[in-house]
Amino acid sequence: MNTSARRTFSVEFFPPKTDEGAAKLRVVRAELAALDPAFFSVTFGAGGSTREGTLATVMEIRAEGRVVAPHLSCVGQTTASLRELLRTYREMGIRRVVALRGDLPSGAGGGAGEFRYANELVEFIRRETGDWFHIEVAAYPEFHPQARSAKDDLAAFVRKVNAGANSAITQFFYNADAYHRFVADVAALGCTVPIVPGIMPISNYSQLSGFCEKSRIDMPRWIEERLKGYGDDRESIRAFGLDVVTDLCAGLLARGAPGLHFYSMNQATLTRTIWQRLGLPPAAAANPAV
Ligand code: FAD
Repeated sequence: MNTSARRTFSVEFFPPKTDEGAAKLRVVRAELAALDPAFFSVTFGAGGSTREGTLATVMEIRAEGRVVAPHLSCVGQTTASLRELLRTYREMGIRRVVALRGDLPSGAGGGAGEFRYANELVEFIRRETGDWFHIEVAAYPEFHPQARSAKDDLAAFVRKVNAGANSAITQFFYNADAYHRFVADVAALGCTVPIVPGIMPISNYSQLSGFCEKSRIDMPRWIEERLKGYGDDRESIRAFGLDVVTDLCAGLLARGAPGLHFYSMNQATLTRTIWQRLGLPPAAAANPAV
C-alpha cells in the first residue's frame, strides 16, 4: 500500500544570526523546496532570544510561497507577547505552529514567567485562537532529561496532547525501539495523534556526541565506535552516517511511522540525499513502490 500520501515529511531550520547565514539559508531552502516537503519549521530561541530572527525567517519562507510552521517556546514569555506573535502569524495566514516550553539559558535571571509547561502554552493557543492552528508538540522517545520518571514523562506528553495538540515531532534518536515503544505506550493511554520521528543526519561526531550527552539520547555503541574510528575523515563519517540514518528512516516508515521531520541544521545535502534514497515525495510519484 502506498501510504506516503498520508505521511508528513518536513524540514527544520534555525534562524540565522548574520546576513551571510540568511543568504546561505536561502540557497539551502531553494534546494530543499525542490523536494516539496509538507512544511518548513523554524526554531524559536527560549526566552524570545531569536524572536526577530524567527519572525524574519518565517516571513521569508511565507513570501516564497511555502508552508511554514514557526516554533513558539513559552518559558520566560508573557501572555501579551505570545498573543501578539500569534496575531502576527494569523495575519500572515500561517496555520501551523510547534508549541514548546523551551529552556531558559543557564544563569538567566528571573523565573519561568507565566507559563511553566508546554501543555499550558497549548491551552493558551487554543483559548486564544480556537482551531486556527494545527499545533505540534515535542515528544521524547528516550524521555526528557528533566522528567521525574518515564511514567511521568508519558503522562506529561498525553497531557499536552489532551490540551489540544494535533500531532507531535520527536527528539532525534538512533534507537528505533524507543520510538515504537513510546508510540505504543501513549496509545495505551488513549493518545493516538501522529508522532513523527525527528531525524538528525550525521555529519560530525563530536558535535553529535555533545547533543546526545546533553539531551540524554542513546547513541548505540556500534555507531559511536565507528564514528570515533573515522577520526577526522569527514567523508567516511558522512557516508556511514547516510547509510545508518537512511536505514533508520526506512525501518521507521516500514513499521508505520507517520512521516519524518528532518533537523537540517541549515544544510541541504544530507537531508536531500536521505530523502532521495528513501524515494520520498515528490520522488515517490515516479516510484509507486515507495
Ligand atoms: P514540556 O512538555 O513542558 O516538558 C518539559 C519537562 O517538564 C519534561 O521533563 C516533562 O516531563 C515535565 N513536565 C511537563 N509537565 C509537567 C508538570 N505538570 N509537572 C511536572 N513536570 C512536568 N527549544 C527551543 O527553545 N526552541 C525551539 O524551537 C525548540 N524546538 C524543538 C522542537 C522539537 C521537535 C523538540 C523535540 C524540541 C525542541 N526544543 C526547542 C527543545 C525543548 O524546548 C526542550 O526540550 C524543553 O526542555 C522542553 O520543552 P517541551 O515543550 O517538551 O516541554
